[in-house]
Amino acid sequence: MRLCVVGVGYVGLVTGACLSEVGNEVICIDKDQDKIARLCEGKIPIFEPGLSEIIDRNLRSMRLRFTTDLRRGISQSQVIFLAVGTPAAADGSSDLSCVDAVVVEMGRLLTEYRVIVMKSTVPVGTQARITQTLHSLTGASFDYVANPEFLKEGGAVEDFMRPDRVIIGTTSPRAKEIMTDLYAPFMRKSNRMLFMDPVSAEMTKYAANTMLATRISFMNEIALLCEHVGADVELVRRGLGSDPRIGSAFLFPGIGFGGSCFPKDIASLIHTGRMRGVPMSIAEAVLQVNAHARERFADRIKQYFSGRQDDVTLAVWGLAFKANTDDVRESPALHCVKKFLLWNMNVKAYDPEAGQAAGAVLDGQIQLCRNAYETLDGCDALVVLTDWQEFRMPDFEAVRNRLGKPVIFDGRNLYDQTRVKQAGLEYYSIGRLPVCNAGSE
Ligand code: NAD
Repeated sequence: MRLCVVGVGYVGLVTGACLSEVGNEVICIDKDQDKIARLCEGKIPIFEPGLSEIIDRNLRSMRLRFTTDLRRGISQSQVIFLAVGTPAAADGSSDLSCVDAVVVEMGRLLTEYRVIVMKSTVPVGTQARITQTLHSLTGASFDYVANPEFLKEGGAVEDFMRPDRVIIGTTSPRAKEIMTDLYAPFMRKSNRMLFMDPVSAEMTKYAANTMLATRISFMNEIALLCEHVGADVELVRRGLGSDPRIGSAFLFPGIGFGGSCFPKDIASLIHTGRMRGVPMSIAEAVLQVNAHARERFADRIKQYFSGRQDDVTLAVWGLAFKANTDDVRESPALHCVKKFLLWNMNVKAYDPEAGQAAGAVLDGQIQLCRNAYETLDGCDALVVLTDWQEFRMPDFEAVRNRLGKPVIFDGRNLYDQTRVKQAGLEYYSIGRLPVCNAGSE
């Protein structure tokens, strides 16, 4: 099939690459000329495991092309995917200006039947608005499909190639048939396509993200109570997750969720509820608990060094909002680092992939290191903020010996308390009593 994808960010690039990988001819379009120029040379602007190999292969076979020319994409493609950003506006609603700009341009260019597929996360009711705009701009026929994306950064290629489910929101039998063909290569083991009306499809995406975030915030609230009653949240988490009705995913306590999706999608759901007079009380509590989790963690470190913050240098492991990505948008790790800087602490940091992006946001205020151990030299504490694999089994002896003061603040509960204790380190984590008796073997 001939396809085009408008918006070549995390979602658009993965979508375009994976669709070309199964034999489609895909034109990827972005308004960012630099990004397109670099992609034409095979330079990938994001870190996503497995992505560069797919792009290389399909660029060479000419199944995948990059351009800034929307006209070319629309005239040559049967299906047009929209994957532009939908960030949060100041009032919590979704800022749809990028979507609207593409829709208006597209409306002027449509001359024959096309399927328009919305991959961006857009508020409930967007389908009706876009359809109306397009009808006002073109006499050409089209079908609109709400096809929210569920990939997760860090595992995006795998998620796209082997999706848990594909939600297709359309009332058109013609579009349904085209979408079924399009996704068939990804459904060989079993058909996981779910068809529904566009409004329900739009709603499903918000409900899914809010549910996942709710689990994280729930665990963070339980973790707080664990600290007060002397329970170990890691044992509680295992006990809880082993119930098949509950399951173990998204139950990890820590400094909370971030990224470009959960915070803004929950805010948008709350806004939609407000517009319809339906309070989204759970969603509101989820955001509140989330904000509290990272504040509490950062405050604990401030209190520990109370009165002498100016002399403190922290070694930070992890800046990305989660492991396996270079994305620092709404990163709780960056939020904590900003707090440390506000309190006049010095920060040395290392992240396997997100150093450059974080450095740009923090504008030279932190010292970026080339590896995890280098950050420790001359520091007063190790602060773990992202759960990268390479941080999970450190050489605790080396950590203790390189740190000026042998203390770890772990915002991701990565370590076994007994091992840390044996290494003579003081250890603070989330929802577990601190290990304070440094030096004991
Ligand atoms: P992104 O910011 O990484 O990329 C968006 C791209 O759209 C940018 O390259 C931008 O230049 C381009 N763009 C903006 N306006 C344009 C225009 N008029 N014409 C052409 N290109 C234009 O965004 P993302 O993270 O890929 O997210 C895209 C959408 O998918 C959002 O709605 C997001 O909520 C949703 N989503 C994201 C993820 C994720 O993990 N990132 C997962 C599921 C859904």
